[in-house]
Amino acid sequence: MKAKTVERIVPPKPPHFVGDGFRVHNFIPGVEGMDMQRMDPFIMMDYNSKYNFPAAEKPKGVGVHPHKGFETVTIAYKGKVAHHDSSGGGGVIGEGEVQWMTAGKGVLHKEYHEEEWSKTGGEFQMVQLWVNLSKKDKNTPPKYQAVTYDEMSRVELADNAGTIEVIAGEYHETKGTASTFTPIHMMNAKLKKGGKAVFNFPADYTTVLLSIEGSARINNNETLPTDHLALMTKDGEQFEIEAEEDSIILILSGMPINEPIAAHGPFVMNTREELVEAFKDFNEGKFGYLE
Ligand code: MN
Repeated sequence: MKAKTVERIVPPKPPHFVGDGFRVHNFIPGVEGMDMQRMDPFIMMDYNSKYNFPAAEKPKGVGVHPHKGFETVTIAYKGKVAHHDSSGGGGVIGEGEVQWMTAGKGVLHKEYHEEEWSKTGGEFQMVQLWVNLSKKDKNTPPKYQAVTYDEMSRVELADNAGTIEVIAGEYHETKGTASTFTPIHMMNAKLKKGGKAVFNFPADYTTVLLSIEGSARINNNETLPTDHLALMTKDGEQFEIEAEEDSIILILSGMPINEPIAAHGPFVMNTREELVEAFKDFNEGKFGYLE
């Protein structure tokens, strides 16, 4: 099997605030060369690197806003996030948990630090991704999936190397619990110092690694430092990572949808006409109601 190699190692851009509760480095589509087409089906990635939020009586976050035509995935590493949407979905996720919201035909939602967590504050670390939907799925009804700590699929690696937590797709035939519309593999490699893991994904899948904790060697060649992203080539299938210290590496690999992308703010459609329609639907209250 041919090796999948590193195309580039990308440092985090200077952070900015989303609402008052998320201090993020944008990797997709803001990094040059990592636009929505190249990163298809991953059309947005914001990374809140470890940041200490002081105690607050009123939870910080992002107020009511719409989404249409894709899915939002929030992976919590530190801290707790509460989420509510106009389809009645919602919940709280904490360390090691994931919320996967399908906006589909249109939803309103809000995302805040969980109320009790907010009162003490502390270290906060999270990834938010937008996963695109293909034309045939853009108008799917909104839904919400939570992958709690107890429901997470885990693969224990040989030689006490660590654990792969499979969120979606599969690792060595263990499947993640989140369902996806197009083939996507999403997992956290929690490796002990010196621990190794090998991954196999189709050559044409868009594949990225984000170092959440620690640092790792890729293919015994490049080093992926903390808070950096590795963009892999669309060539070759197999790569290996080795933790240089106790590490958590988020690994994403998705089949490109290969359709035109028309994006504006919180709407991602295939054509400009569909975007105009999305704004009209939103303004006419067709996304429901959320206080
Ligand atoms: Mn949102």
